[in-house]
Amino acid sequence: MPNQCQEYANLQHEVQLTLQALSDLTKAMLAAFHSNDRDLFSYLDKGLEMTVGRKERTIGALRQHLKEHKCTALEL
Ligand SMILES: [Zn+2]
Repeated sequence: MPNQCQEYANLQHEVQLTLQALSDLTKAMLAAFHSNDRDLFSYLDKGLEMTVGRKERTIGALRQHLKEHKCTALEL
């Protein structure tokens, strides 16, 4: 198996951070929902939407890199 390149490692790290942020935001939003904190809920909702967009872009970039560079056997 070929060595993974630095660009792949960067993209992989960015995907991990984004998925972690989605998880954190979702948990915080659930807590705001339970405590009926409407301001916090709508604030987190906006953040979650932006983070979903970031997730789409980073996973798209990772897929594109794998397709073009073929630096790992992994497929997404
Ligand atoms: Zn690569």
